[in-house]
This record gives sequence, C-alpha cells and structure tokens, in this order.
Amino acid sequence: MTTLDKFREIAREPFNEHLRAHKDGGGKIIGAFCSYVPEELIVAAGMVPFRMRAVGSTKTTLGDTWFSSFNCSYVRHLFDLALEGSFRFLDGLVFINACDHIRRMWDNWKAALDHPSFIHMTAVPRKKEHGALGWYREELEILKRALEDHYGITITDEALREAIRNSNQVRRLLSRLYDMRKDDSPPITGAETLSVIMAGTALPREQFIKMLDELLKELPGREVYPPDAPRLMLQSGCLEEIEHLELIEGQGSAVVDDSLCFGRRYFDRLVDEDLDDPIQALAERYMNHLSCPRISDDFKNRLEYIRSSTREYRLDGLICEKLKFCDLWGGEAFILRQESKATGLPVLALERELYGGGEGQVKTRIQAFLELIGKV
Ligand code: SF4
Repeated sequence: MTTLDKFREIAREPFNEHLRAHKDGGGKIIGAFCSYVPEELIVAAGMVPFRMRAVGSTKTTLGDTWFSSFNCSYVRHLFDLALEGSFRFLDGLVFINACDHIRRMWDNWKAALDHPSFIHMTAVPRKKEHGALGWYREELEILKRALEDHYGITITDEALREAIRNSNQVRRLLSRLYDMRKDDSPPITGAETLSVIMAGTALPREQFIKMLDELLKELPGREVYPPDAPRLMLQSGCLEEIEHLELIEGQGSAVVDDSLCFGRRYFDRLVDEDLDDPIQALAERYMNHLSCPRISDDFKNRLEYIRSSTREYRLDGLICEKLKFCDLWGGEAFILRQESKATGLPVLALERELYGGGEGQVKTRIQAFLELIGKV
C-alpha cells in the first residue's frame, strides 16, 4: 500500500486507527471547526486536533429538525452525524464565529447534545483593521485558559514553541507538495491532495509529518494527468468531497492549486518561531494567512494571491464554488467574476449541495467552462 493509499483510506473515514490508538493510550482529541483555530494550542495541551468534517454522511433528516431549509448543507450534514453520535470520540470542541450557519450550530449543539464536556466559542475578527490582532490575541489567551481550567493542565510557552515547530514542519512539507503541482506534469492530482490534507487534519502531528516525508519521496516521476490538461484553481469553503474533485478532474482538467479550508488555507504562512511571545506569533500567523471571505476587508490580498498563482501555476481558469445559502462564498464568486477581466483568468461560479448529488449538472458546467477557455 502506498502512502497515498493510506492517506486516501484515512480521509474517507470520520475516525481512524491512529486516533483510536491515541484514545486507547488515554489521549484526548479536540474538534475544531475552522482554520482560524490554532491547532498548536491544542497540541501544546497534549491533545490531538481533529478538523471537523461531515465525511460519511448520507442524509440530513435528523439535522434538518434543528436547522431551517435555508441553512447550508455542510452544517445540516455535520449536525446529523453529531445527533447520530458520530463525534462521541471527541473530548472537546472549539467553534469560531465563522458564519451565521456555524453560529446556529453552536446554539443547537449546546441545546441538543450532552457531549463533549468541553465546548468553546472563539470570536475571530471579521476585518484585519486596527485592533483586530489585539482582539484575536486576547481570544487565544481566553481559549488557552479555558483548556487549562477545564482539563486541569498548564500550557507552557515551551510546549507552545514545540507545537509551533511541528506545525511549521507540516506547513513546509505541504508547501513542497504544492510546489510539485507547478510542474508541467504534476505527480499528484487535486483530489489526492485534498485526501492528504483531510487525512492529516485527523492525525497526530508526528504521524502526519512522517507520512508526508514518505509521500514526497514516492511522488517524483508519477504521471496523473493527460498532457496539456487545462490547469485550474479551485476556491471554496467547507469543501471536503474527494469524489467531487475527481468529478471536476475527470472532465480532463487538472486542479493544480486552491484556496480551500482543507487546502492552501490550512498551511499558508509559517508561524514566526523567533518571536518571544508564542501566543502573539500564533495570532499574527492566523490573522494573516491566506484568508477566506469571512475576512471582509482582505479581498485585495486574496486577489493578489490569484494573480501570483496564475503566474506560478500557469492557470487557465478558476472555479469558485459556494454551497447553497452560503452568502460568504456567494459574494466572493460574484466579485471574482467581476474581477475576471482584471486578473485575465476566466472564472466559473458553481453552486451546489454538499453530498448532494447533481453530478450530471456539475459535469456539464465543467465541460462547458473548459470549452469556453478553449482547452478541450
Ligand atoms: S459553507 Fe458557507 S455557510 Fe456553510 S458553514 Fe461554510 S462558510 Fe458557513
């Protein structure tokens, strides 16, 4: 079994053997809902961070009893799993005020579920204006104290620095993986890359680092795309279906870069290891890494990233997706289409439901887009 096969297997399961071994050894697992929750704080507390996902969900019948039909399918699927008890392995859960739908899930989770014992909301600024960094730093201090008080532990600066070193090593290795996707013939597909990061955010850091080291040795020389496959960037929030990327790439395209929660936004930008204050270092990295539309005054930096990616990855087009009723990404897709002329990059805006079928329609839209950009 290759390392990539192992990543795929782990990514397709909500729970895995490495987490089981950690639990069996008396270890704790803390769920987190967004890339604005510093995993280093959880690791420095001696626990494993688990990035929440709705993997394995096939229905929303239970979830729908707690949400309106105008809530996005991500929260309805994930909460359906929660009501089924799929997250009983968690010892704690950290929410952020990502959007109104996640905030509703916070209310519903507290009302409907008696587990896990630790449940916390971290308020992350929606703008990067003056004062935002200080606010966010304070919120990280509050999260740190909440973990310490609830579990009767002390999170030392040395433990934080060690966790920062480990997470930075993960970021460096993922950057090398993404650099390989700049090649004329990238050795890994977009769907496989998604499986690597989805698996990694459900593994202890050391295990993730070990597997990434092995993967980077296995990939050189691998051929996965037809020659001259149109090169695309994919942007979205809460996208976690590997099959969906396989569908996009199955139309003859190559997704060579992205701005996804389980993608570049997870590893973009290192934490400054030279700063004396590790909490300040975390705040600076997490407030300044490649943002998502919830940071409403940072569109210019997101656009600048698209421009540099267009050059470095020789992009032919950009797909910006939104789940139905997701205002954040709906707005982003609209503006990106306006900016398409300025960036010189054709943009396809796609709307869909998570685990919601509609493959035929998506296929047709992708094929039409590839024709439009003159690449089929
Ligand atoms: S898809 Fe959009 S609306 Fe749904 S949870 Fe994510 S950011 Fe919120």
